[in-house]
Amino acid sequence: MPETYRGRFAPSPTGPLHFGSLVAAVGSYVDAKSQGGQWLLRMEDVDAPRTVSGADDAILQALEDFGFEWDGEIVWQSQRLDAYAAALQELKTAGLVYGCACSRREIGDSAIRTAIDGGLVYPGTCRNGLPSGVAPRAWRLRTDNSEIAFDDRVQGRIAQKLENDVGDFVLLRADGQYAYQLAVVVDDAAQGITHVVRGADLLDSTPRQIWLQRCLGLTTPSYAHLPVACNTAGEKLSKQTLAPALNPAQAGAELVRALAFLGQHPPPELAASRCAEIWRWAFSHWNFDQIPRQRGICVDLENLQLSSACGSQLGS
Ligand code: GLU
Repeated sequence: MPETYRGRFAPSPTGPLHFGSLVAAVGSYVDAKSQGGQWLLRMEDVDAPRTVSGADDAILQALEDFGFEWDGEIVWQSQRLDAYAAALQELKTAGLVYGCACSRREIGDSAIRTAIDGGLVYPGTCRNGLPSGVAPRAWRLRTDNSEIAFDDRVQGRIAQKLENDVGDFVLLRADGQYAYQLAVVVDDAAQGITHVVRGADLLDSTPRQIWLQRCLGLTTPSYAHLPVACNTAGEKLSKQTLAPALNPAQAGAELVRALAFLGQHPPPELAASRCAEIWRWAFSHWNFDQIPRQRGICVDLENLQLSSACGSQLGS
């Protein structure tokens, strides 16, 4: 019997939903529902300093206003710290994780390469242990230079050599917060996620997540990284780039626009329909192969136009 499709949407409550997050929500939802799958919701509030009070409620309200229906209970990462601690302990016991005492500045002074995500490749200073009396600040996962490759359903084959491209990466930060990479891997496994559909800004994180899955003996889901929406300046829509919040009064038009962004061809008059009708159209007409194989696409939010491929900072 084929496994049941279990997809998810995992917003970070750092601000209200905008068009860029809507694209990820729509893509993951329609891909799951068009295949008779389930679609789960996870609030990624593991990074307490970045979490904005009330943003979680605003996101849930927006999803309801847009007619999304999720399966099962919402998972809140802030309530999953014991699971992250257990995973970290398992990795420590296996000797795969080590304490690191380097400050950001020390890493900056000694790193010689820029990592694939624009950060610095950690030079491995603390890999062989800390001098006595020196306390660890953060905990890092060991990497090596074996190739981690996967076939992304949208972006094709992606391969990295983590030691070279990223370096040993942090699982528990110096400020006591668990890193996104650890939380997402533990939670995707705990929720039985079979298909991850999300924005291409996370494409370069995926080999790290696959490495973590292997270290923890977890299965690797299938991945599809959708083009991310950028503004006309080529910047990813985000709170930092002042992307406007979605307007629920325009839900139909926004949904139709998100479907068009994903290469689907909704009839323009559908924009005036109720959300339920738009979802019915989307589930029955979803054509995955029409999703543009790009990491980013510019949108003119003023004129509701899609323009060219963009995003030099997105790597393509
Ligand atoms: N919480 C992440 C975000 O909002 C998404 C994580 C994921 O889908 O893996 O960008």
